[in-house]
Amino acid sequence: MPTYEYECPKCGCRLEKFEPITAEPNAKCPECGAKCKRLIGAGAGIIFKGSGFYTTDYRSDSYKKAAERDKEPAPAASSGGKSSDKKK
Ligand SMILES: [Zn+2]
Repeated sequence: MPTYEYECPKCGCRLEKFEPITAEPNAKCPECGAKCKRLIGAGAGIIFKGSGFYTTDYRSDSYKKAAERDKEPAPAASSGGKSSDKKK
């Protein structure tokens, strides 16, 4: 089972939950009780973020670099983050 990371939208604290991949994203902040949103964790499907990456890059060097970069907390205002997370 993968470990999912959740982030509280209110206070910004993070927690990790160990749950089946089929589980509904459902976690509450231990601090303020707000519903936390699930972050993309290692082992789960990686969603491409930013620009310049296409499905043809899958498992290429640029893909790996992007994957590495995605693991780090992104700054609030990163450039080029406007493109859609969803693939057509
Ligand atoms: Zn909170």
